[in-house]
Amino acid sequence: MPTVPAWPPKSLPRLFVRAALAEAATVELDVRQANYLGNVLRMGIGANVLLFDGNSGEWLARIAEAGKKRMVLALERRTRDAETIPDVWLAFAPVKRAQTDWLVEKATELGVARLLPVMTERTVAERVRLDRLGAIAVEAAEQCGRTRLPAIDEPIALARFLAGREAARTLYFADEMRDGQPPQAAFKPAPALILVGPEGGFTEAERELIHSAANVIPVSLGPRILRAETAALAALAAYMTVAGDWR
Ligand code: SAM
Repeated sequence: MPTVPAWPPKSLPRLFVRAALAEAATVELDVRQANYLGNVLRMGIGANVLLFDGNSGEWLARIAEAGKKRMVLALERRTRDAETIPDVWLAFAPVKRAQTDWLVEKATELGVARLLPVMTERTVAERVRLDRLGAIAVEAAEQCGRTRLPAIDEPIALARFLAGREAARTLYFADEMRDGQPPQAAFKPAPALILVGPEGGFTEAERELIHSAANVIPVSLGPRILRAETAALAALAAYMTVAGDWR
């Protein structure tokens, strides 16, 4: 017996909009989005699209007006409430641009709640483009079905980061140099903060500073030295498995 296909189908385009969404509201898309639906996907008046605003969940909308560079959508109904994600944050030392972009995209897919770029002595990246990383997180959320976006903080120096963090949030320090606990023993349900170092690793002084901070748990990600972006995602995936929403 053919099953009745789910409505709305998962294949409907999903777009993030900055406007607050509500019952019977109308939303004007930005030029890039209007071009994408109108000219790339060749969608016209009456076609359905899924929208989310990062707070109120996901909504089914219908194209009500379609012009060359302008498109207005009318909201029909809410299809999903805003997701509840594990309160897990990822602090990472920015690496080269392509790798940092990849890290942000994948961490968004994995369900991270907050991304904190931390500048360390051996951090190679001089500049972190928050607008660019924000756009990458939006695209990843549109594709993976998220209804909330991860927060992305301004870059901060390691010492200020440690001095300013709330000790109640356990800091899981991915440390390849010291026998940390395996993830299944270390990770506990949130609030959690995972810290991963730069490609060149933390200096000895930085590692002492981290280990001497309150409520820090060293975590081992196995016997091999992982690249920084790999370590960040491996730690996040392990956290989701052991203490997050993959359980
Ligand atoms: N210190 C190394 C060096 O001198 O080449 C490598 C640093 S590693 C490429 C980058 C970061 O990934 C480390 O600072 C650590 O946070 C994390 N990492 C890599 N492999 C790890 C492992 N097996 N266990 C825990 N953390 C690891």
